Amino acid sequence: MDKIKVLFAGTGDAFASGGRYHTCFHVESKDTTLLIDCGATALNSLIKFCVDPSNIDIIMISHFHGDHIAGIPFIMIYLQIMTERSKPLIICGPEGVEEKIKSLSNILYPGIADSKLEVVYKEYKANETLNIEKIKLTPYKVIHSEETKPHALKIEIDGRIISYSGDTEWTDTLNEAADNADLFICECNFYDEKIKGHNDYEILQKKKPSLKCKRMIITHMDEKMQEMCAVLPDIEQAEDGKVIYL
Ligand SMILES: [Zn+2]
Repeated sequence: MDKIKVLFAGTGDAFASGGRYHTCFHVESKDTTLLIDCGATALNSLIKFCVDPSNIDIIMISHFHGDHIAGIPFIMIYLQIMTERSKPLIICGPEGVEEKIKSLSNILYPGIADSKLEVVYKEYKANETLNIEKIKLTPYKVIHSEETKPHALKIEIDGRIISYSGDTEWTDTLNEAADNADLFICECNFYDEKIKGHNDYEILQKKKPSLKCKRMIITHMDEKMQEMCAVLPDIEQAEDGKVIYL
């Protein structure tokens, strides 16, 4: 089986703590290239880490916050102007994804949503598995700002499972999302602060034994959590530019 490459292109929180880029994970299998979330800085980070954006087949988004979706218009304009693209770009997200991304794109680059770049929108529903090309996606509802339609994503790609919590405080739904995953990317915004809609290290440590994933990597950390990662031996953190193979 060919390896799947995962590049953590952006691993910061909304406030660019520690100078990190907004959330964006670039996943490359033999058949498909996928972006999981596409924060405002996605194009910058992909170029910085020497990834060719023209190969992206699918962008999957966990919820409608700018640090997870605002990079999409920049990817669209790049594909339209900088490449000879003939295949469509698939954008997959929660209910209302087409309207949301079209209006965002048309504000930043008027007319781009109706340009020659073909974009196919796919809407997912919690607990329903969606087949997109050769990928199987199962989303789970999580606990974050409700109007952003927050979901965790479980993605089966080329025989491997990558799960991602999205932004959420701890919910036992994450056990289901992470179950049997080769990689579970889990937000861990804070070390010990309890902030509604976000996870923290203290709770994650308590819940870790219930997670049946093979590997967990935390992301979306504030500055304190990033500093703590240097002295906590029992947690693997994502960093901008980190690459792993599954
Ligand atoms: Zn969010």
